[in-house]
Amino acid sequence: MKKENLKKYVYDFEEGNASMKNVLGGKGANLAQMVQNGLPVPPGFIVSTEACLKFLTEDNSFIDTIWPHVEKAVERLERKAGKKWDGGPYPLLVSVRSGAPVSMPGMMDTILNLGLNENTLDFLAHASQNRRFALDSYRRFIQMYGEVVEGLHPNLFEDILIKIKEEHGFSFDYEIPASLLEDLVSQYLSIFETHVHEKFPSNPWIQLKNALVAVFKSWNNPRAETYRNLHSIPHDLGTAVNIVSMVFGNLNEQCGTGVCFTRNPSNGVAELYGEFLINAQGEDVVAGVRTPLPISELRYMMSDMYGQLLDITKSLETFYRDMQDIEFTIENRKLYILQTRTGKRSAEAAVKIAHDMALEKLIEKNEALTRVSTREAELLLHKQIDPETSVPLITEGLPASPGACTGMIVFSPDDAVQWHMAGKTVVLVRPETSPDDIHGLAVAEGVVTSRGGMTSHAAVVARGMGKPCVSGCEDIIIDIEKKRLFYNKDVFLREGDVITVDGSNGRVYEGEAPLLDAKITKEFSTFLHWADDVASLEVWANADTPEDAKRAREFGAKGIGLCRTEHMFMAQNRLPIMEHMIITSDEKVRLHDLQLLQEMQQNDFENIFKEMDGFPVIIRLLDPPLHEFLPKEDHIRQQLAILRHDEDSDSEKRADLEEVLKKIEMLKETNPMMGFRGCRLGVLYPEIYETQIRAIFEAAINSQSKGIQVSPEIMIPLVGISEEMQIFRKMVDRIAEEYYKSTGTILDYKIGSMIEVPHAVFLADKIALYADFFSFGTNDLTQTVFAYSRDDAESKFLRTYLQKGLLQENPFHILDREGVGEMMRLCVRKAREVKANISLGICGEHGGNPESIAFCHSIGLHYVSCSPFRIPVARLAAAQAALGFIN
Ligand code: PEP
Ligand code: MG
Repeated sequence: MKKENLKKYVYDFEEGNASMKNVLGGKGANLAQMVQNGLPVPPGFIVSTEACLKFLTEDNSFIDTIWPHVEKAVERLERKAGKKWDGGPYPLLVSVRSGAPVSMPGMMDTILNLGLNENTLDFLAHASQNRRFALDSYRRFIQMYGEVVEGLHPNLFEDILIKIKEEHGFSFDYEIPASLLEDLVSQYLSIFETHVHEKFPSNPWIQLKNALVAVFKSWNNPRAETYRNLHSIPHDLGTAVNIVSMVFGNLNEQCGTGVCFTRNPSNGVAELYGEFLINAQGEDVVAGVRTPLPISELRYMMSDMYGQLLDITKSLETFYRDMQDIEFTIENRKLYILQTRTGKRSAEAAVKIAHDMALEKLIEKNEALTRVSTREAELLLHKQIDPETSVPLITEGLPASPGACTGMIVFSPDDAVQWHMAGKTVVLVRPETSPDDIHGLAVAEGVVTSRGGMTSHAAVVARGMGKPCVSGCEDIIIDIEKKRLFYNKDVFLREGDVITVDGSNGRVYEGEAPLLDAKITKEFSTFLHWADDVASLEVWANADTPEDAKRAREFGAKGIGLCRTEHMFMAQNRLPIMEHMIITSDEKVRLHDLQLLQEMQQNDFENIFKEMDGFPVIIRLLDPPLHEFLPKEDHIRQQLAILRHDEDSDSEKRADLEEVLKKIEMLKETNPMMGFRGCRLGVLYPEIYETQIRAIFEAAINSQSKGIQVSPEIMIPLVGISEEMQIFRKMVDRIAEEYYKSTGTILDYKIGSMIEVPHAVFLADKIALYADFFSFGTNDLTQTVFAYSRDDAESKFLRTYLQKGLLQENPFHILDREGVGEMMRLCVRKAREVKANISLGICGEHGGNPESIAFCHSIGLHYVSCSPFRIPVARLAAAQAALGFIN
């Protein structure tokens, strides 16, 4: 016997369970589990992902190897369903659905009503006492089979349908009577024959085999590949195929079909949430072709069904311990569950659900912390429309995915991509979206649809991507051909016109409304406090202004890890003084300028200390090369040229400009980033650093006298040798001593070094003797370890390095563990050898990147410091690193 025959590729639902997702796919494994749990699932079987992979990668004839097993499974299905394959009186029809191990909604193919032919059609009509229904099922099947198996364009069929409706004045498909459907079916059959050059296969075995092959192949269709790339899903998983006895939601008014979530997927509220349609098949709800009714209506229309659904959905959520997305069908008032899976949700809902489930004790708090990804935490800082502004409202639909955006209207996914590549910000406006639109959705800022509900394709995908979406705006008309959006009957917007989308409230406005930054909800705040409880890393902020400091505290920063003082000199009223201070060669004048700057900085520091009452503030002394504060050389030369031409020009002004030019030339360097900057400035111009230190101390003493708890920490940039640190330690201690003598105030201050150059790493044990803390400036450390210019590398060669796969990640975005990381590890070890309690942190951009944060956790840093808007993400990442969820 061949080895292949020993392996199992076909599983009845009774043989599987939820832990078998890799083999049975997510859908199949969950269907099997529901059978185990005694829930009403129509009978069915699953062809495994392994079969798909063997078929796709080894040999197409593998279908013949498994075929006898499929035939046997169909025979068992006949018995379980009490129906007859290719016969009657109750014909067995099946759905053939893809189901990958990882959910890829709508990306692969499905065929419904398989098994229909002239013969079973009559049986179905008879058994259901409804020939219209049987014909309607048949025409749907011919179309789906034609599209999926033979790749026929849907318009071949849709056009005929539209024509019949137009000719007879029907608005909806269900208005077409049986007599016309007979005609439609024969037209569909001949369309098939014309385009495929073969008769439509009437043998259900042939139908099934071809369908199985087509669904296997749909694993590799372009939209599935795009989806996998977008969501980092491996390409070698394959899809399982679920073959399930059909149940019908479209027999009569006692039938229906719907989709529901055990909690609201948009805002996370614990309520059964979803929608349904009476007398319809599942595809009608998901495809967004008819706008369905909210699930709450089912309570009034079929209260028994609603009650059962509520019980089942609750039991599923409790079993899976997560929010479920459930598809159901009611056939003659009998409820069937067709699918359950972990529901996709907006970032806002992810937090609310994790938070609530922990409080409900459905999951542990630590598990809750792993239920929200750092990417979702990032999305949570959604923008909102400024409520103060009034922009004209165009339409209102369903708040399908929260957040707000503005952009230019585009009407097709291809246009969205083109406009995006041309640097435009776009909003995709469509009657409805389908999986084929995925590339357009990926580049659009947001989506608006005129049809479809909260579970329509656009809504689901937008929520997954964290983009605002308003769906089901039924009062607008979208003319794709003419690229127009009509509202208020005949007013219209064209392609390129700007709109604002508010996905949180379901509103669309004309023009650009100002957007406000996000606020943290109560649940998110609690959730982040849980994160702080388990994290060993603290999260501090890079904040240069009192406003930044305020925001940092609001976002939960436990300190300021980097206050870049140079930004304070860039303010309009200060730059001229700074410039003057640099240019002058008169020591006295310089000191006067510095005095002015000191007063201004002191004020800034006081305001920051006030915001950070009780929390440490690390202030870095001046770092950038001085030429950055001077005007551009070209500009001065131009001005001088004009003045030299003009005989009447002011000679004093000319002399001044010449002085500036001289200074610019003097400060000019071939490699400014490796030149006269950082603490080298403080060595050559100690008065500059002294001024800054005094400003810090004066501010601290003043604040302290007002009852504010201040812990100033002075940070020296770009230290390379211990002698530098020694100089500044002495300077800071001396000034502190002076203030103590003159004011009697004892300040709780610290002095520390940035670690930004390899030499400092190797001498960390020596530098640590003069430092209370080290802070890794990984922007410069990356630059100096790689010798990649942080200002030029990206545009010059880094992008190519990334494209060619020489580097996996941009080391300025994600910390390079092999080089920079090893440097950090060495530095930590050497520093602790001489000073076990030295405080260690990071303030480079990497401090806000989850992967880099996980590394900082692993080498035992005390804090990460990042920009205020990244604080929530960093707090979650610190917790997830402590839990070993990210590493
Ligand atoms: C760094 O180099 O990582 C740093 C924080 O300093 P800056 O970016 O200001 O050079
Ligand atoms: Mg730096």
